[in-house]
Formats: sequence, structure tokens, C-alpha cells
Amino acid sequence: MARVEQIYTQCPVCRYVFRASRITTYATVGREADLCPKFPGRLSDGSRIIQSEVTMCPACSFAARGDFDEIDPSGPELYGLEERLKEDGLLRVFRASPPPWLAFHAAEICGQERALPTRELGDLCLRASWVCRKEGESPFESTFQLRAVRYFIRALKEEALAGRELAITTYLVGELNRRLGNHREALNWYVNAGRVVEEDPALAWLDRLIRDQTKLAREQAA
Ligand SMILES: [Zn+2]
Repeated sequence: MARVEQIYTQCPVCRYVFRASRITTYATVGREADLCPKFPGRLSDGSRIIQSEVTMCPACSFAARGDFDEIDPSGPELYGLEERLKEDGLLRVFRASPPPWLAFHAAEICGQERALPTRELGDLCLRASWVCRKEGESPFESTFQLRAVRYFIRALKEEALAGRELAITTYLVGELNRRLGNHREALNWYVNAGRVVEEDPALAWLDRLIRDQTKLAREQAA
């Protein structure tokens, strides 16, 4: 059974104090091919567990992965965050009744403002796509998959990813492309990921996954 923890937290942007819940202990039963964890029980329970990784201020919508303890923006960064949160189109439309993915979108735009690594921004979008799938929101699932792909490709070009992170990021660009219907693109990225994986026996599980997904993408491309 999942264990829920309630904590009081203060928003580092607007100083509003609110109660946030975090799911601390839970079981998983494997992963889907885009590495989305599978949880026992209903899909909506799994969605709630993934959602609880991101905290969002109910007053100004500032959001971040984990808790706000280490976050203390000031000066131009604080001003930039306030402006972004006020101006963002999706937040304006959806703030009154937030859909399950909204906190991830908020964490993504706040993360851009805080200059988080591109790989991390991609990870937020990937998680948002998992939540959308578990909640049956397919158009938004594709939107977030596409955003994740763009961030991951940029991270591969600009950030010094290595080892496991390099292999997984490359594989995910392939797998997300396959899910978006770009089978040829997917096949190219699986080949790139395969080259990284070859050198690391600890990544044998990923090597198997790449083989399976390559077969699937070939069938789908035909
Ligand atoms: Zn706030």
C-alpha cells in the first residue's frame, strides 16, 4: 500500500503556506517501454503517485520536482518567475480547475526560468506524458512526448551526458518517436542507443528492450 505524507510548505515565490501531500512508499510491478512505472491497482492511483513527485503552489502555480526547501529565488530570477507564472497561456486557461498534468507544465516553465538542465526539463515532460496516458488524455500525452523529445535531443547535443544517462536518453528519443508515429526516426535512434549500450554489461536490460522495440518499430513501419 502507498503511504501518504502531509507536510506544510511555503512557496518561495509568493510566500503562501500550504499543505502538500507526498506519496513516500509504494510498490511497482515493472515498467512500460517508455520506462513509465506500472503500479498495482487502478491507473488513477498510479497517476496520483507520479503527480505527487511535483509540488505546485495553489496560489501562484510555482512548481518544482520534490519539495521547495532548497529553492530560494531572488532578484531577476524571482521577477522572471512571477512574470512567467502570470503570463503563461496554459496556466491562465487551466488554473481554475487544474488537470492532472498542469503541475508538470508549471514545473517545466519554472524550470526554464531557473535554468535547470535540459535533460531534467525533458524528464518533467516525459512524466507529464505518463500521467496523461494513465488519465486517458491522449492529445496532451502526445504534446508532452514531443516536448520531451525536443529537450532530450537538445540535452544530447549540449549537455555532457554519459553512461547510463546517455544510453537511456538516446533510447527514449527513439521510443517516444515510435509512439508519435515516426517509425524511421525511432529506428535510427534505437541504433544510436544500441551503440552506447554495447559497452556496458549493466545495461543488458536496456539492450533487450532496444531489440524488442526495434522489432516492433520495423513491423509498424512496414
Ligand atoms: Zn506561490
